[in-house]
Amino acid sequence: MQRKFFDIDDRLLDLAAQTESDIKSAFERIESNAFQNQQKVLASFINNNVGESSFTSSTGYGYGDVGREKLDKVFADAMECEDAIIRHNFMCGTHALTVALFGVLRPNDTMLCVTGMPYDTIQSVIGISKQPASGSLAEFGIKFDKVDLLEDGGVDLDEMRRRLKSDSSIKMVYIQRSRGYTLRPSLTVEKIEEICKAAKEVKPEVIVMVDNCYGEFVQLTEPCCHGADLMAGSLIKNAGGGIASTGGYIAGRSDLVEMCSYRLSTPGTGREVGCTLGHSREMYMGLFSAPHVVGEALKTAAFCAGLFSRLGYGVTPQPNDERADIIQSVMLRNPESLIAFCQGVQSGSPVDSMALPEPWDMPGYDNQIIMASGSFTLGSSIELSADAPLREPYAAWMQGGLNYAAGKTGILIAAQRMLDKGLLEM
Ligand SMILES: *Cc1c(COP(=O)(O)O)cnc(C)c1O
Repeated sequence: MQRKFFDIDDRLLDLAAQTESDIKSAFERIESNAFQNQQKVLASFINNNVGESSFTSSTGYGYGDVGREKLDKVFADAMECEDAIIRHNFMCGTHALTVALFGVLRPNDTMLCVTGMPYDTIQSVIGISKQPASGSLAEFGIKFDKVDLLEDGGVDLDEMRRRLKSDSSIKMVYIQRSRGYTLRPSLTVEKIEEICKAAKEVKPEVIVMVDNCYGEFVQLTEPCCHGADLMAGSLIKNAGGGIASTGGYIAGRSDLVEMCSYRLSTPGTGREVGCTLGHSREMYMGLFSAPHVVGEALKTAAFCAGLFSRLGYGVTPQPNDERADIIQSVMLRNPESLIAFCQGVQSGSPVDSMALPEPWDMPGYDNQIIMASGSFTLGSSIELSADAPLREPYAAWMQGGLNYAAGKTGILIAAQRMLDKGLLEM
């Protein structure tokens, strides 16, 4: 007998059961990837002899913190690249990306973004945001150029080649793997490989850097296995497994990671300093859990896609599509439905379920934004969360879910709220 803890309409529960049979092939792929990625991470722990002593805490300068040094190696092995720095000192993904950009770019260099306009917070870092931010790359004489995406959301390789040939100042080709909050497809590692090959055919020494946010452990390999030189991301998304309470990473070619370390701390000290303050254990444990948790988030996304397409809504990606990040968008068609969906996700969260999110004028955005995030870690988006600007096509971007049972329940509670408000046709 099924016990009932939430008031969810039987018609929705039937649809949920049908949805789960629709998405069997997606689940098989997700579970197979999680199994292989989990083994990769376990092997990196074993090969590096992670032990109780790796979790010890340091203070002050943190000289000789063996746990910190070992974690860098474990993470580099898990990402299958030469080197990495993974630290609680990175305050967010934007910070890790910023350290990487300032770490390797120098005055008069050009950074060429080939995936159109980069993620909002990176625009301030570059110096192209509407309200100019102090301390941007532009203020240090680092130039920016971009190649717009093709109509179908693909990367315009021909235009990239033309720019690389005509502008000798291009030092870096920058790729954003995730869709972010747009409707373009996210980039698979195979697509990233095509970009890297095309760029290096024209200019072998160009540095290809990837914003890998939301992409870690979704596929079997990471961008640096496919020709990218450097990548960065956040630990309150995929790579922290829902356990790391803050932090980020930079990984890739060892000479470039080394340059970044001098920007993270100081020229001269680099990675020799940086106390761990007791964060090591949760960073190891988060990395260990990451392949599984990413799998649970991907299942939640596939379920959301399947349920809402059965309910008649446009979704991207499609339920059984191969994915390159954990983000799911659902086109909810009107503001009432969008608000009800986000409020439903919030009310189905383990933390702050009693809060009722409302659209608000967020600084730097042209439309009102509504956000649902009832998470243990503030702003964590590996936990079930949804964000949406109030504009056509009234799309909600949902991501995360620490475990599928809770993620699925959260999505059903969101659909139920829409039903209660008379917004669902069933
Ligand atoms: C989340 C994210 C970032 C970094 O954002 P933070 O909120 O600073 O962690 C950068 N790029 C993309 C595509 C992202 O999804």
